[in-house]
Amino acid sequence: KETLKFINDRDVMWFRPIELKELLKFKQEHGTAAKIVVGNTEVGVEVKFKNFDYKFLANPSQIRELNELEVTKDGLKIGAAVTLTEIENFIESKTDQNVIEKSIVEMLHWFAGSQVRNVASIGGNIVTSSPISDLNPILLAAGAKLEVQSLKDGKRIIKMDENFFTGYRKNLIKDNEILVSILIPNTNKNQHFVAYKQAKRREDDIAIVTAAFNFTFKSNTNIIEDAKIAFGGMAQTTILAIKTASLMKGKEWNRKLIEIVNQSLIDEIPLSFDAPGGNVVYRRSLTLSLFFKAFLSISQELD
Ligand code: FAD
Repeated sequence: KETLKFINDRDVMWFRPIELKELLKFKQEHGTAAKIVVGNTEVGVEVKFKNFDYKFLANPSQIRELNELEVTKDGLKIGAAVTLTEIENFIESKTDQNVIEKSIVEMLHWFAGSQVRNVASIGGNIVTSSPISDLNPILLAAGAKLEVQSLKDGKRIIKMDENFFTGYRKNLIKDNEILVSILIPNTNKNQHFVAYKQAKRREDDIAIVTAAFNFTFKSNTNIIEDAKIAFGGMAQTTILAIKTASLMKGKEWNRKLIEIVNQSLIDEIPLSFDAPGGNVVYRRSLTLSLFFKAFLSISQELD
């Protein structure tokens, strides 16, 4: 393995380092002008259709830390450059898949087509922070943790919570930082997790609304101990329905809950009539119907 660097006649640099510190140095030196390119399924669209002109491109395919998949005591650790297909294969090969991992595999079935999944990375999806990402609702509802690193300040851990997405395609990762890995936390036997995507076409389409639901019950009861509900397609970022989730805590899982949650979701996620993307009434009703779908699915598991 060796570090490669090419500069073409338009002064575009293509850099393929073999050590993480080389990539950190590259990012520190070039900041927002430096693009990490893995699958190129976002960057390629920006260059071809939006006339973005990037001068410093780096490919992290040879960097160990960004390409590892590992089961740790805290959960599944996924290198940021690992492709969606690799994640799917790895989880499917595990005999003890947990509820979050199962949801990831199910969602990946609806994520683009296999050509895209074979090259696109999980890191590229998180960093792009599209409001209609298929994976980010799952990662938010799961409370995934991100390990980021910069040459100047070293490593830090960012929790994917309601503060992570800071605006349209913006997040807490700084311009000089690289996303190194993602930790999908372990679950326990009282935890139930489901995720859904509603799109116009069943296969290979952009979502209209995506949702992920994570509920933990008090041991041997139907009382909700912890709740996380995430939606994509309902705001300029992927969002957590914090108020509704906190309202659910301590309540019993029964039909009365549906009314309470429906009213709360209507109040908490009031998509305005001029929201980009259109389909406003449909998208609003989807938050309720996707919750209802989750309710039915989890009720069956609880029986
Ligand atoms: P790249 O284009 O290589 O990079 C994307 C961005 O992330 C760049 O800004 C890059 O600099 C940055 N980046 C990447 N890795 C790092 C890192 N380690 N540290 C810091 N910055 C980093 N998305 C969905 O959610 N659902 C879909 O169904 C879907 N369908 C698609 C269908 C098509 C035809 C296409 C073209 C795209 C689709 N996408 C979809 C969007 C895209 O495929 C995903 O967002 C994908 O995960 C991006 O990964 P990538 O490796 O290709 O990103």
